[in-house]
Amino acid sequence: MARAALRTDRSLADITILAVTKTMPFSSLEEAWKCGLRHVGESRIQEAALKKSSFQTSLSGYDINWHLVGHLQTNKAKKAVEIFDFIQSLDSLRLAEILNREAAVQGKVIPCLVEIKVSDEQTKFGLAPEHLDDFLSQTSLFPFLQIEGLMTMAPYFEESHLARPYFRRAKDLFDRFFARFKGNRPILSMGMSHDYEVAVEEGANMIRIGTALFGQRPQADLL
Ligand SMILES: *Cc1c(COP(=O)(O)O)cnc(C)c1O
Repeated sequence: MARAALRTDRSLADITILAVTKTMPFSSLEEAWKCGLRHVGESRIQEAALKKSSFQTSLSGYDINWHLVGHLQTNKAKKAVEIFDFIQSLDSLRLAEILNREAAVQGKVIPCLVEIKVSDEQTKFGLAPEHLDDFLSQTSLFPFLQIEGLMTMAPYFEESHLARPYFRRAKDLFDRFFARFKGNRPILSMGMSHDYEVAVEEGANMIRIGTALFGQRPQADLL
C-alpha cells in the first residue's frame, strides 16, 4: 500500500485498511485489532453479530468500526442498523428508505457508502452509475442516512492492471458527486487483495483486504 501510495504521490495517512474478516475465526479479528486495525468488514449479519459480542467481552476499550460489505436484503435492514457502524452496500432506493426508517426507530444516523456497479457482470450488485445523480438527490432527504462516499468492486483479472479503467470510472463519479464534501473527507472504498495497489494508484482512500491479511478463506468462492 505504501509503495502504491508513493508511486502516485499520495500520503499513506490518507488511506484506510478495512480488514475483511468474513468467514475467518474470531482470533483473526483479535489479531488485526492488536496490530492496530480499527475497521473490520463482514458480509453476513449473523456472523458479524457473534463476532461483535465476542469482541465486546474479550477486549476492553472497545474502539472498532464494523462495516457491512456484503449485499443487504431489505428484511435484514433492522439487524444491520443495530450491528454495523457503516453500510458499504447501499445499492437501491428501496433499501435506503428502509434503512432510514430503521435508523430513525433506533435513534441513530447510519453512515453508508453507495455501492456502484462499474462493470457489466451479472453476478455483481450495485447501483448503475447513471442513476447515481437521482439517487443522491432523493436520499439527501433521508435525515437518518449519511452518505459518505462510494464503494465498488472491479471484475477479477489475473493481471490486476486490467482493473484500472473500472477504478478510474468510480473515481470520476466520486470526484463529480463528492468533491463538495471536502470538509469531512468522503470515502472511496475500492481495491481488494489482488488489485488494491491499482485501486490506490487510482485514488482509493479505503481498501478492503481479506485474503492478503488472513490467508485463503474457507469456501472463498461462496462469498
Ligand atoms: C470478501 C470481500 C473483500 C475482500 O476480498 P479479498 O480478496 O479476500 O481481499 C472485499 N470487498 C468485498 C465487498 C468483499 O465481499
